[in-house]
Amino acid sequence: MESIVVLGGGLAAASVVGELRELGYTGALSLVSEETQLPYERPPLSKGFLQGKEEPADFTVHDASWYASHDVALRLGVAATSIETAKRQVLLADGSALDYDQLVLATGSRASLGGRTPIPGYDLPAVHVLRTLDDAKSLRAELVEGAQVAVVGSGWIGMEVAAAARQRGARVTVYSPSEVPLAKVFGERLGNHLLELHQSHGVDVRTARVHGIEEADGHLQVLSDAGSSRADLVLLAMGAQPNVQLAEAAGLEVDSGVVVDASLRSSDARILAVGDIAQAFNTVLHRQLRVEHWDNAIRQGKLAAATLAGEERSYDWLPYFFTDQFDLGMEYVGHGSPGDTTVVRGDMESGEFFMFWQDGSEITAAANVNIWDVNGTLRGLVGREIDADRLSDPAIALKDL
Ligand SMILES: Cc1cc2nc3c(=O)[nH]c(=O)nc-3n(C[C@H](O)[C@H](O)[C@H](O)COP(=O)(O)OP(=O)(O)OC[C@H]3O[C@@H](n4cnc5c(N)ncnc54)[C@H](O)[C@@H]3O)c2cc1C
Repeated sequence: MESIVVLGGGLAAASVVGELRELGYTGALSLVSEETQLPYERPPLSKGFLQGKEEPADFTVHDASWYASHDVALRLGVAATSIETAKRQVLLADGSALDYDQLVLATGSRASLGGRTPIPGYDLPAVHVLRTLDDAKSLRAELVEGAQVAVVGSGWIGMEVAAAARQRGARVTVYSPSEVPLAKVFGERLGNHLLELHQSHGVDVRTARVHGIEEADGHLQVLSDAGSSRADLVLLAMGAQPNVQLAEAAGLEVDSGVVVDASLRSSDARILAVGDIAQAFNTVLHRQLRVEHWDNAIRQGKLAAATLAGEERSYDWLPYFFTDQFDLGMEYVGHGSPGDTTVVRGDMESGEFFMFWQDGSEITAAANVNIWDVNGTLRGLVGREIDADRLSDPAIALKDL
């Protein structure tokens, strides 16, 4: 009987096994995760779970009975330590081994601690990262009314945690390496909108680099370009690094992630990679792309299953992500550059608007802010050439552009 092994316990891994059984694969199927929980979705960790509005059962992908009834062998709480490609075998930390005919790598990302040399003080007790449910539980326990929270970094996770912490009554300082948070992704216009949103809710956003954290008199001191400030807890939100060590050691081609083709096969045809670690060839954008988003984990999981089932499909969709911060909910589709020009449709001050990114007149990306059920329409506009005047004209319906 054929055997497929999936390494990783995140959304991409859960999506692979779900779709394989959906497509009628009847061979042996195992999922190996170093986490002890059943695979779950991570977005609520910095949103609903931190705010106390969602609990793990709300964001667990499949419950235990699903794995049992779909004959998926779960190996939880054990890491894979190496891949023996010649023997087609995976070795696990408990000394056991699993044979495979086809292997899917879905080992995701880990929180960055600040590059090759971790930031001094990263291992102090009240210094957190946020990647796993366990991380979120310990962070949530300390996010109490009046706590002084320092967030190091102003990317998605930093800004979302800042919002959740304010909503729990904490005092929050965000240390942003750039003057405008997220400007590297969106350009200044939307970045400034997010900055003002946070400031209006009392978040102290400082442009400063943090070079260390120290403990003094039972508190933490955050040491930055802007001086030293006291904090009760610190979140290091300095980005994520793909877990590509297994792939590298197995001799697979690895660049910014595991290099895979449009059907997600790696340089070893028996090994596929999906989700955060996959640097895959996107047939719409005609380039290798690594995407660290929820939607990508689901879709690439399904694509890998289709490839394993012998279907001819490819990585042919545009990146998508969403965020929730205070009363702002946003979806974004496409792959804009910070240097693109931006066009706003609607009134930014009202909080409900669209933003388009353009390279010349070609739309490279689009976002809907607090306007819902339109992202599919925006997806259809990306790649088209439309004059900025028409894009911003509310008299022309989106579907008529
Ligand atoms: C706090 C947070 C909030 C987020 N919010 C959003 C959002 O709002 N919108 C959005 O689009 N995206 C969001 N994301 C990103 C999204 O969650 C990720 O893109 C997604 O989780 C990627 O799924 P994955 O399965 O590829 O990897 P991961 O979710 O990282 O899962 C990888 C799994 O593999 C396991 N593993 C690693 N190495 C080994 C090994 N050697 N052996 C066995 N198991 C191993 C890990 O323990 C983990 O269980 C967020 C991420 C985080 C952390």
